[in-house]
Amino acid sequence: MSNPATGDRATERRVLIHDDGSDSPACVAPQLAPPLPSARQDGDGGPASEALTALVLAPVGRDTDLTVDALRQAGIPARGMPGAGALLATVAEEVSRGGTPTLGAIVVTDDALGIDWSVRLAEVLDRQPPWSDLPIVLLAGSASLSGGRWVHLPYASALAERLMQRVSVTVLDRPVRMAALISAVRAALRARARQTEVMQLIEARDRAVADAERANHAKSQFLAFVSHELRTPLNAVGGYVQLLLMGVHGAITQSQREPLERVDRAQQHILGIINSLLDYARIESGRLEYSIETICLTDVVSDVTNMIDSQLAAKQLAFQSRLPAEAVLVSADREKLRQVLLNLMSNAIKFTPDRGRIVMECEVPDDTSAPVQLHVHDSGIGIAAEKLEAIFEPFVQVHGDRWTEVHRGTGLGLAISRQMARGMGGDLQVSSEVGNGSTFTLTLPRAL
Ligand code: ADP
Repeated sequence: MSNPATGDRATERRVLIHDDGSDSPACVAPQLAPPLPSARQDGDGGPASEALTALVLAPVGRDTDLTVDALRQAGIPARGMPGAGALLATVAEEVSRGGTPTLGAIVVTDDALGIDWSVRLAEVLDRQPPWSDLPIVLLAGSASLSGGRWVHLPYASALAERLMQRVSVTVLDRPVRMAALISAVRAALRARARQTEVMQLIEARDRAVADAERANHAKSQFLAFVSHELRTPLNAVGGYVQLLLMGVHGAITQSQREPLERVDRAQQHILGIINSLLDYARIESGRLEYSIETICLTDVVSDVTNMIDSQLAAKQLAFQSRLPAEAVLVSADREKLRQVLLNLMSNAIKFTPDRGRIVMECEVPDDTSAPVQLHVHDSGIGIAAEKLEAIFEPFVQVHGDRWTEVHRGTGLGLAISRQMARGMGGDLQVSSEVGNGSTFTLTLPRAL
């Protein structure tokens, strides 16, 4: 017989005991060559971590010891088990401990394990995490060649069958040659080492996700803190400017009024940005609360259109509202719905050139379980197909030239609006064509 490591013919010595009643050895080992690399130190780019141990169980203690000895001589860390109960307890302890595996494989004979213990072992192994599949090398008298045909031994094949349904099992027919056993155990240890690598990758990824979440949380807290600290003095600035404009501190001249009005507009603009940052920080940290109630959509739409009347007039935009005559009831948070609609209408106005057209249209399906859809169509500059999803990302503005210069938005409006729509059980989507306008569709659940 040749040695798998050296290719030399080696002197054979018996190390494992007989198969049922036969004179032939159950397992015959060659005089072993110097230790082979274990699964953990192999030179094929495999992982280099702590050595994995093979647990060995044979029906007779001496067989176990001889096999352990032979595996160790081949450089494979091995530990003998005094019985099936001890094997099960060792495996159960490893499975419940979790973390980096220390067990690399189970080497067991079918008669040492038996059907009952194999079922229990499979149950314990079922509790392994998804990345883990502790391999078993089963030395079984599953079949033998007799009278020129294969005869299956029902007991052993039933056991292997049960284990194989749930665990990675390599079955070696007895009598087993030691070279075959060593290569099967090595292959099992390599597979196990790869599982460890996968586990380490998963752990590294989980740590990175947790770090990113922590950083994100810190960023949201920072945003909330800064925004709050800015908002307080800014409100004071706005209040004093208003008082000055009202003449509470004495009459003001026309030439004083103009710069004061500019300060007032700038203050409102900055306040708008800070409010968006605060909303966004709250959404990011999951602290935005919704007070969902039954709302008449028609009322909210008319509120919003009243608020933007002057902006429509300033650009001579034609506006049409196509809402059903009867009240449309949706389930939403009134303030957030108003904010989303205001954002959609302000964008439609911003990105539609003078004398363009904006239409607000409501679709109420006959099926009362289907959501209501509110479309805001504009005849504006449109959005390129590849940017349609990006506009819902925070701080993204896709019209980088004169539009953003003139309108100085934050790129937060749509990110906030979509999150709010989803927070109310609906959604916000867009369809658009460059030069041919855009349609934003807000979906909202019907009030029951
Ligand atoms: P902001 O309006 O503050 O820039 P938004 O998140 O509301 O931020 O919008 C993000 C970007 O999406 C805008 O900068 C613009 O490029 C694009 N956009 C939004 N609405 C429209 C629209 N109706 N027509 C064309 N582009 C739009």
